[in-house]
Amino acid sequence: MPHGCCYNWQPEIVWTNILADSAICLSYYSIPLVLFAFVRKRKDIPFNAIFIIFGIFIMACGTTHLLEVVNVYTPLYHISALVKIITAVVSVTAVCMLVPILPQALALPSLKVAHDRLEKTSKELQRSNVELERFAFVASHDLQEPLRMISLNIDLLNTKFASQFDQASLRCMERVLQGTERMRQMIASVLSLSQIDQVPLPTVTVDANLALADAITNLAVAIGSSHAHITHDPLPSARCDRSQLSQVFQNLISNAIKYRRPDLPRPEIHVSSINREGNIIFSVKDNGIGIESADFQRIFVFFQRIHDRTHVDGHGLGLASAKKIVERHGGTIWVESQLGTGSTFLFSIPTA
Ligand code: ADP
Repeated sequence: MPHGCCYNWQPEIVWTNILADSAICLSYYSIPLVLFAFVRKRKDIPFNAIFIIFGIFIMACGTTHLLEVVNVYTPLYHISALVKIITAVVSVTAVCMLVPILPQALALPSLKVAHDRLEKTSKELQRSNVELERFAFVASHDLQEPLRMISLNIDLLNTKFASQFDQASLRCMERVLQGTERMRQMIASVLSLSQIDQVPLPTVTVDANLALADAITNLAVAIGSSHAHITHDPLPSARCDRSQLSQVFQNLISNAIKYRRPDLPRPEIHVSSINREGNIIFSVKDNGIGIESADFQRIFVFFQRIHDRTHVDGHGLGLASAKKIVERHGGTIWVESQLGTGSTFLFSIPTA
């Protein structure tokens, strides 16, 4: 044993050192594995380079302890010295990297501070949402009355005093009436949009077949006049409000009818569902005019339309309401489509 003299040739000292160095070496080799796994999985953590240099430093330290054990039996002093030089270089590098980032590391908010800030922002957001909804409700509710007055009086002029007006004035009044009717519809949509959150969140599941049947009944006139052919697979029960689920189906089916291809004999609409990763995903597929991928996000924004009102009537609130309803049930809504070959609108409702 070349190293035996260093331990006074006492077996208990030799074994204590061998066992302690082996244990230190094994732990030093395991820590970098944990650090590397952490850095690989948490790419969002700042100062990743420091974690990596620490890993290398700890591994180098482990190797010095391994060589302590080897040297007891085989004198590899040159390699031992080389490993110590590497360890020294790595440890000096770690110190040089650590000191400059200390102020930045200290400036990082603690988890509690970050959590408190987030909670404060989320409360402010909730409050401003409630205020905005109340404003939309009051504004749209109060606007109804003067509007009713305008259309009532124009109607009166039109019917009682029609003989006193020339053709140009009558056309003018007709346009005012059309405008007020359109405004009435928009106000009604904004009003119903502002009331979506007033409906209590569901505690029980509802049969989606019934919600779909409600929607089809409400759309009877549009379905009849367009000769739309609507089919559906057996749908499951979902944890949602029946009238709101029906509203989503109604908006999507009504769009599938409105945005049909004029060259096809009739709109073909199919409603189905699948279960995926804790969600029921409902889909409404049509054979309509389709949507360009550049518009996939825009169509779900309030008052955003991609088709001119002169071609198809609407005011850009149908999909925004559907999105609001789906999101308040914890789901998401999206579209898959190609221009000219139809669209499939999909929305998820969490099963739990
Ligand atoms: P509206 O139909 O009243 O304009 P929506 O919010 O329901 O408002 O729809 C927004 C826009 O998305 C529509 O203007 C239309 O351009 C497009 N769109 C919606 N559904 C379809 C569909 N099934 N096929 C093609 N385009 C659609």
